[in-house]
Amino acid sequence: MEDKFARVVVDLANPGIGNKFFHYRISGQQLDLIQEGARVLVPFGGRKLSGFVTGFDSSPEIEEEKIRDIINVIDPFPLLTKELIELAGWISQLYLCPLSEVLKTIVPGFYAKVKAKEITLVRIKQFGEKTLTYIQEYEKRAPKQAQVLNLIMSQGEMPLKDLLEAAETSHQTVNALEKKGLVEFYKKRIIRDPFQKKLFGLSAKLKLNIQQSQALETIKSHLYKKESDTILLHGVTGSGKTEVYLQAIEEVIKEGREALVLVPEISLTPQMVSWFRARFGSLVTVLHSKLSAGERYDQWCRILEGEIKIAVGPRSAIFAPFTNLGIIIIDEEHESTYKQEESPRYDARKVAERRSWINKCPLILGSATPSVDSYYQAASGFNVLVKIDSRVEERPLPPVNVVDLKKEIKKGNKNFLSSELYREIESSLEKKQQVILFINRRGFASFVVCKECGFVQRCPNCSITLTYHSSGDQLKCHYCHYERKVPKLCPDCQGYYIRFLGLGTQRVEREVKEKFPFARILRMDRDSTSRRHSHQEIFKSFKQGKADILIGTQMVAKGLDFPRVTLVGVIAADTALNLPDFRAGERTFQLLTQVAGRTGRSSLGGKVLIQTYCPDHYSILTAMNHDYQEFYEKEMNLRKEFGYPPYSCMLRVVFSGSDEKDLSNIAGLFKETLDSLLESDKGDILGPGPCPLSKIKGRYRWHLVLKSSDLEIISQVGQKAFEDIYSTAKGKNIRIALDVNPLNML
Ligand SMILES: [Zn+2]
Ligand SMILES: [Zn+2]
Repeated sequence: MEDKFARVVVDLANPGIGNKFFHYRISGQQLDLIQEGARVLVPFGGRKLSGFVTGFDSSPEIEEEKIRDIINVIDPFPLLTKELIELAGWISQLYLCPLSEVLKTIVPGFYAKVKAKEITLVRIKQFGEKTLTYIQEYEKRAPKQAQVLNLIMSQGEMPLKDLLEAAETSHQTVNALEKKGLVEFYKKRIIRDPFQKKLFGLSAKLKLNIQQSQALETIKSHLYKKESDTILLHGVTGSGKTEVYLQAIEEVIKEGREALVLVPEISLTPQMVSWFRARFGSLVTVLHSKLSAGERYDQWCRILEGEIKIAVGPRSAIFAPFTNLGIIIIDEEHESTYKQEESPRYDARKVAERRSWINKCPLILGSATPSVDSYYQAASGFNVLVKIDSRVEERPLPPVNVVDLKKEIKKGNKNFLSSELYREIESSLEKKQQVILFINRRGFASFVVCKECGFVQRCPNCSITLTYHSSGDQLKCHYCHYERKVPKLCPDCQGYYIRFLGLGTQRVEREVKEKFPFARILRMDRDSTSRRHSHQEIFKSFKQGKADILIGTQMVAKGLDFPRVTLVGVIAADTALNLPDFRAGERTFQLLTQVAGRTGRSSLGGKVLIQTYCPDHYSILTAMNHDYQEFYEKEMNLRKEFGYPPYSCMLRVVFSGSDEKDLSNIAGLFKETLDSLLESDKGDILGPGPCPLSKIKGRYRWHLVLKSSDLEIISQVGQKAFEDIYSTAKGKNIRIALDVNPLNML
């Protein structure tokens, strides 16, 4: 029989650049066993490494004698489907990262030694005279053997491990019985279940209101067409999008197809998973990084075997190995967690688009505050737009009021709490209702704001807020490196500046405690939620009314339902608004709208207070009026003027190293290389300069940004420059990270 050669992508600690694979010979009886997508063990140098078979060749372009044999296949069936192999190649090309890294992300635990788990059971071989006689006969001569037999008889069968424990005996006792033909061993595969014995109850279908039904009908019509359409479901907070998802999925399951549901973060969305389990029972699984490797492996196999029809999970769940997808749903599609921050820096929304295209199934993007990019796609007619603009049971959206902090300063109040917010908290507490106080955690970036008129200095080239550096009293742009001294007086009103240095949850907690000594306060931030289930514990005790005030960061803004919350206070909207990021306005609008959505969810009603120095900023005004459309138009004008996405594509290149001089040299060299590769009218380069987060874990960080209307140009030019500079940078211990269409600019 002729030899066949497999292309194997091997796990290398440092895969370098490009899509490297190695050829291995498949010999003799392996021929039928080794299929595309199989995980195999191969010799590599002096070691044995695992890898994935991604294809075959009959005559590779290297000497055949040098090709070594595959050692063995690891799993009973291929872990990767054809679709996932194709997808991995596509991601590797688009996001400029090695194929082996993509595979590692697709099949988590790919290189770990995780396998199917089997246990050994023991059962009686023949019930009847022989066994009974044996027990009687041996009760005195070999009491352990008799006891073991009795135990198995009473149970029918038993795991070997439990049996040995119960009888306090060794393996030999059981072996002796097996030799006599009284018992036999057999193996059984065990599923490591992430839900264990948790009960979910049942949930009946809810009746949809008119807008929900219309949304469902639109989704259904696209399901039946079997076309890869993207539908943007723009539904205000509390509009019952989840019920629409559930009923659409019911339809998909009826058609014999499968469903994938992405949520921003599994630990913040426990309700979502329980709703799905309650409706669809054991057809649903979760896939996320907090599962053990074994649990993940088993859920993966159950999907491949067709036992699971619905998977719910964060970003990485987009790789669930379904082969007959009928729908993909991305809830809270505007969340930046859908983009991975380390390599491969893929965007799950783009990957979802690709999978919907391959599977000819609709993709649903749901949000109360769609990302500007997704809305642009819908507004320009590429995607379908469906709106739900009323809340369930016709509950009104909460009234939002803005407190102008400049006036507080004039009144001589230097506290975090304005007198208005103080009064509102007091009144809620008197009525035994609950309060959420929201602080933007990413308030590390310092900026200066005029305390008289609220004026904030922006970069004339990039329009982003200038960051304050106390050394030299400088203001710097972190995109283009523009800098200037802090002016003595405000150019707008001749007033004086104040430095805004961000605030922490703990400081706010202290002040609130001082003002309301009898209130019970819970804090939710990174420090208070480092343990595995601490989010749920905090949410649970707040929901049960064990606290009056919840102080928290972004985490409290997610889709949770607290019926007794009647007041949401935003301590300082400015920290979000003045991040050195061109998406700061968008993020602020989204945050304020989401956080406002946490109140007014019951008949008690609710209100929102936003404290800010910039009460006239469009992000704040439009959030106050719940006016997405107006926000979108204002935001798009700015994006257009400065050529930001969706009017351009971007490549962000981040350099990091311990020597800042080397770093700036390499960054400069990279820019020169880009310049020489780029035709002058095909794109713009911003920077290089220090990142807003200029040092992480002792390593300095610089970045530059390449903008172009053509994604292909960005990829080609970026990849080429990277290949040119790679080894020089490596020699100086400098890392270069390429981020295509980045969401994080810090
Ligand atoms: Zn001013
Ligand atoms: Zn600039």
